[in-house]
Amino acid sequence: MGHDEPYRLIRRGARSEPPSAAFPHLIQVGEVTIGGSAPVVIAGPCAVENRAQTLGIARAVRAAGAQMLRGGAYKPRTSPHDFQGLGQAGLEILAEARAETGLPVVTEVMDPRLVERVARYADCLQIGARNMQNFPLLREVGRSGMPVLLKRHWGATLEEWLGAAEYIAAEGNLQIILCERGIRTFTQGGYNRFTLDLNVISAVQRETFLPVIVDPSHATGRAEMVPAAALAGIAAGAQGLIIEVMGEDADPERALCDGFQAITPAALREIVRRIRPAAAESDQRRNLPRPA
Ligand code: PEP
Ligand code: MN
Repeated sequence: MGHDEPYRLIRRGARSEPPSAAFPHLIQVGEVTIGGSAPVVIAGPCAVENRAQTLGIARAVRAAGAQMLRGGAYKPRTSPHDFQGLGQAGLEILAEARAETGLPVVTEVMDPRLVERVARYADCLQIGARNMQNFPLLREVGRSGMPVLLKRHWGATLEEWLGAAEYIAAEGNLQIILCERGIRTFTQGGYNRFTLDLNVISAVQRETFLPVIVDPSHATGRAEMVPAAALAGIAAGAQGLIIEVMGEDADPERALCDGFQAITPAALREIVRRIRPAAAESDQRRNLPRPA
């Protein structure tokens, strides 16, 4: 114990880990189970822009086979002059989308003072890449007792990322889903936005019993690259995907946030269809039982 065990609560072999690989650490978000052998697909807009947009996308992603809805009401933007999200109104729209579609909702919280409020509307709290080491925020979502989706910062080492998860665990909350969303390498600004770190998936699974999913949308920044990155993530052993989706006929130019990485519901449906064999394959490698 001590400095050589910076993430002792979430590491493989910790007392809190389920006793065998046949009983993985499962996270229950509403009716959805994350961390089992069936990969979970979370999909929705980058940002809640208005009621019609979000309800339309929510229906479309459910029809395409997604099991959870994503959408930002509080958006972390590089410039303060960019669209910051609808805030409270966005949360209400997300709650309405959940009521209508039955899809549990994950949405980002950026401010420790807003954790209680966001938790009243959401089923899972997202910690964005930029806030991965916002320690007061991590402690606050830990205390909320809600499932937490913890995105990796694009410059974070594995140890820093797991250390961040440990802050949530240290508040008694082990309902943590890790999310690889691309790291910064030398290729940015050319053909992609970030670089999907596929290697980290198996490294995470060696180090911790927490489930890990992949975000192919932010990892690439380009809709046409999303299907390959999604499939690769599942083939590498990721236990789910979180994908940005737009309306079938929406104009990427007019999206208020991340338009060029949003895929259509038809493309999402194709990803859902194609990940099934890839997931079975990676389960065999991880020796996880398939559901009956
Ligand atoms: C998002 O999910 O919309 C988002 C802002 O992602 P990240 O924090 O990974 O950049
Ligand atoms: Mn986004």
